[in-house]
Amino acid sequence: MNRQSLELKGIPAAEGIAIGPAYKLGKEIFDIPKKSISEEEIPLQIQIFEEALTQTRKEILGLQQIISREMGKETADIFNAHLLVLEDRMFIEEVIQRLKEEKLNVAYICSEVLKKYISIFSKIEDDYLKERIVDINDVGKRILRHLTGRRHPNWDDLKEKVIVVAHDLSPSDTATMHKKKVIGFVTDVGGKTSHTAIMAKSLEIPAVVGLEDATAKISDGDILIVDGKNGLVIVNPDEDTLRRYREEEKNILYFTSRFLATKDLPAQTLDGKMVKVSANIELPDEIDSAKEHGAEGIGLYRTEFFYMNRDDLPSEEEHYQAYRSVVEKMYPYEVIIRTLDLGGDKFVSQFKVPKDMVPFLGWRAIRFCLTRPDIFKIQLRAILKASIHGKIKLMYPMISGIDELRRANYILEECKEELKKEGIPFDENIEIGAMIELPSAALTSDLLAEEADFFSIGTNDLIQYSLAVDRTNEKVAYLYEPAHPAVLRMIKNIIETAHSKGIWVGMCGEMAGELKFVPLLLGLGLDEFSAPPMVIPQIKYAIRCLNLEEAKAFAKEALRFSSGKEVEDFCEDKIKQIMR
Ligand code: PEP
Ligand code: MG
Repeated sequence: MNRQSLELKGIPAAEGIAIGPAYKLGKEIFDIPKKSISEEEIPLQIQIFEEALTQTRKEILGLQQIISREMGKETADIFNAHLLVLEDRMFIEEVIQRLKEEKLNVAYICSEVLKKYISIFSKIEDDYLKERIVDINDVGKRILRHLTGRRHPNWDDLKEKVIVVAHDLSPSDTATMHKKKVIGFVTDVGGKTSHTAIMAKSLEIPAVVGLEDATAKISDGDILIVDGKNGLVIVNPDEDTLRRYREEEKNILYFTSRFLATKDLPAQTLDGKMVKVSANIELPDEIDSAKEHGAEGIGLYRTEFFYMNRDDLPSEEEHYQAYRSVVEKMYPYEVIIRTLDLGGDKFVSQFKVPKDMVPFLGWRAIRFCLTRPDIFKIQLRAILKASIHGKIKLMYPMISGIDELRRANYILEECKEELKKEGIPFDENIEIGAMIELPSAALTSDLLAEEADFFSIGTNDLIQYSLAVDRTNEKVAYLYEPAHPAVLRMIKNIIETAHSKGIWVGMCGEMAGELKFVPLLLGLGLDEFSAPPMVIPQIKYAIRCLNLEEAKAFAKEALRFSSGKEVEDFCEDKIKQIMR
């Protein structure tokens, strides 16, 4: 009998259609098979449990030491909460007690006790106690890994292609996903520009995020259709729906091949205006995909991914080798390396940065780097050293005003002096850009333009900070409007100011990769579109169908609307007209 069909609506994260069976991720470590044990085996099982606790403790203390050395004691102290879970007598005694009574394998008992704790804490109406769930979950997974020897799922072992269903995906989950085995993914949480969505695009895996309760409604093995464009997930579809989506898949293939046919032609409008279309990458090996999709440079190399999946910090040599390989591969095109943008939704769990009350307004990005010049300098020196191997530009994230730009540049100058003294060559004229992603930067872009060589508009953050909408929160996703008049006025101001000061402006936020906004952004005078590789061919195609003067008139009209929704509809109509 067919399982029940169901349609779930979420937030579109990466375009495309995927059809396949569901594979629920993340909980497997807690799903331990139950095995009976004999009375005689109990002491051994207790010993195994105690050994796992000792190993976990060692692991956490080791991590704590590294973090303390690299990032300060205060940061390392957040592991104390994990150590407390490990020492909790009630927890330990309950596991041993149940082991003796139920005579089941200790890994199973331990997972059951942990699940019980998580369930109790999640029902408590106290934010502090709720936060402890994260600690229990984290430390619980560590203990269970020691008890079972299991680590991340091994994608290569999967016998068929699957659609991953998860509550959330960490950067390390997404980075280790194998495109050959994972053909789509869906998550309960996340917004359009959360790191999960960004990773999905860079991996070219159709994805829907922010479904709220997908993990509760989908069972392992359910057949899913992921409609990444419309943010839909259809669970156990009927034959008609399947047929319709298979047709749609063919349609997408047809359009993709049309776009791909012109991907290597320049992004030049019908009346001759050349713009640049570059790629956003998170990992060095995405360069191949960027080139295959016709990128004319890298407009945003997000370097924080370099810091993940590890407990220590990357050395100067590691940074240097990675940057060198990226710029050499991309030559003769340019690569814009963005300095570390840690914080907000980016890798807090990996780095164990203390949890800010409002992480997006907290200690992140350039703020983090300016207070930790030791970490910052390692990266800056490596970027400078790599600059002789190709064309590098450097940019700072989250600049809020001129002081930060000056302080960052001051540290950069120190690095240059050091390298000179050491006799190490670098590009003395390396261009320095400021990301404009805070309203304060947008409004003082005239001042910033005096001391920067270029701007790159980070709409993901600019929208979140202008409209006060957490970019990762599915509950407020409806308010996240790239075409909101406030955002458009800022973009217009940034571009006009920069041009009047003689510097160029790119955009590397996800808005630059949304086909419908191409005429508007072109008309506003954007010089460079930097987008995930998979959408580059369509962006170039659209630019080649447009006329700059017409686009300018279109943008002028778009700015007259009073709501983001109206602008968006206007943009959608326009793109349909030109892409027929
Ligand atoms: C942005 O904010 O638009 C941006 C490109 O940076 P990130 O998404 O990495 O914060
Ligand atoms: Mg940003």
